[in-house]
Amino acid sequence: MKAIVVSEVGGPEKLQYTDVERPRPGPKEALVKIAASGVNFIDIYFRTGLYKADPPFTPGMEAAGIVEEVGSEVSGIKPGDRVAYAMARGSYAEYAVVPAWQLVSVPGGMDLKIAAASMLQGMTAHYLTHSTFPLKPGNTALVHAAAGGAGLMITQMARMLGARVIGTASTGQKAQTAREAGAAEVILYTQQDFETEVKRLTEGKGVDVVYDSVGASTFHKSLNCLRPRGMMVSFGQASGAVGPIDPLILNQKGSLFLTRPTLAHHCATREELMWRAGDVLGWLRSGKLTLHVDKTYKLADAPRAHIDLAGRKTTGKLLLEP
Ligand code: NDP
Repeated sequence: MKAIVVSEVGGPEKLQYTDVERPRPGPKEALVKIAASGVNFIDIYFRTGLYKADPPFTPGMEAAGIVEEVGSEVSGIKPGDRVAYAMARGSYAEYAVVPAWQLVSVPGGMDLKIAAASMLQGMTAHYLTHSTFPLKPGNTALVHAAAGGAGLMITQMARMLGARVIGTASTGQKAQTAREAGAAEVILYTQQDFETEVKRLTEGKGVDVVYDSVGASTFHKSLNCLRPRGMMVSFGQASGAVGPIDPLILNQKGSLFLTRPTLAHHCATREELMWRAGDVLGWLRSGKLTLHVDKTYKLADAPRAHIDLAGRKTTGKLLLEP
C-alpha cells in the first residue's frame, strides 16, 4: 500500500510517499481502509521531533474509512462498517491499524470526509469548553487563532454554551470566518496589541478563560488578559514552545490557574470517547456545528499540506485523500 513515511525527523520533505507493507490487525485491533485523513498541527510536531516517535513512522492522528478486517477479540465492529477515529498514529496511508475501542461509527448519510475532518479538533474543542473550563452563559473566552481548525470548533461550541468569544486572527479574511463561527469580536493580533484590545472590550475586567494554541508569541500577554482567578489553557504551540514558567507569576497576575491539557487524557475511556464523539458527530448531523474544510490534498502532497498549515495559510480543516 502507499503511505507517508518519516525515516528521520526534519522539514516537510521528510514526509516521503512510498510503498510499505499493509499492516495486519492484532487481536484487539481493526484494519481500516482510509477514505480521508485529517491534517493536524500535532503531525508537524511529530515530523519535526518536538513530539517523540521512533522513526520510521507514519504520521497522522485521525481518519475515517471502512473496516476491512478485525482482530480475533474484537466485537461490535465488523468488516464493512463506516468508522472514524482520532489519537492513533498512522493515518497518512491507504490503510491503518487502530485499537478497536477507539473506533466510532459514522452516522448513516454522513460523508466520511466530514467525519475525518471533525474528530480530533472537534473532540479537542469539546473537552476544552465542557471539561477543562466548562463555559456557561455570561463567561467571556479569548480564543487565539480563532479561524484555525481547533479555533473554529472552540468558537462554535463556546457560543452553543452561551459564552462570549473574543477571537484573534492574522488577517481580515480569517477574522471574518471567525465572526461567522460566532466570535463577537476578532482582534487582528498581527496589527493590534491584543492585550490592550481585550482590556478595552471587557472594560478592564479581563476574560474568564484564554484558550491559547499559539504558544510562544501569545502566552505571556494572554496571562495579562485574564480576570483574577481566571484560567489559562495552554493547549498548543503553533508559534513555538512556551518555555519554563515560574509559578509565582500566577500569583502576581491574579491567583491564576494554568493548565496544559491534551486530548489523549480526555478520551481515555470508551465512555468519554463516545460522549465527545457522539456530541460532535450529532451536532454536525443536526447542523448545530459546521465544518470549514479548507482544502483536500492527495496523500502524496502531504508535504504541501504541512507547508500551508505551518505557514498560516489555512483556515479550518485540511484533509489528505489516499
Ligand atoms: P490551526 O488550523 O489552528 O493552525 C495554526 C494557526 O495558528 C495558524 O493558522 C495561525 O492562525 C496560528 N499561528 C499563530 N502564529 C503562528 C505561527 N508562528 N506559525 C504557525 N501558525 C501560527 O491548527 P490546528 O487546529 O491543527 O492546531 C492548533 C493548535 O492546537 C496546535 O498548536 C495544536 O498542537 C493544538 N492542539 C492541541 C490539542 C490538545 O489536546 N492539546 C489538540 C488539537 C490541537 P493565524 O494566521 O490566524 O494567526
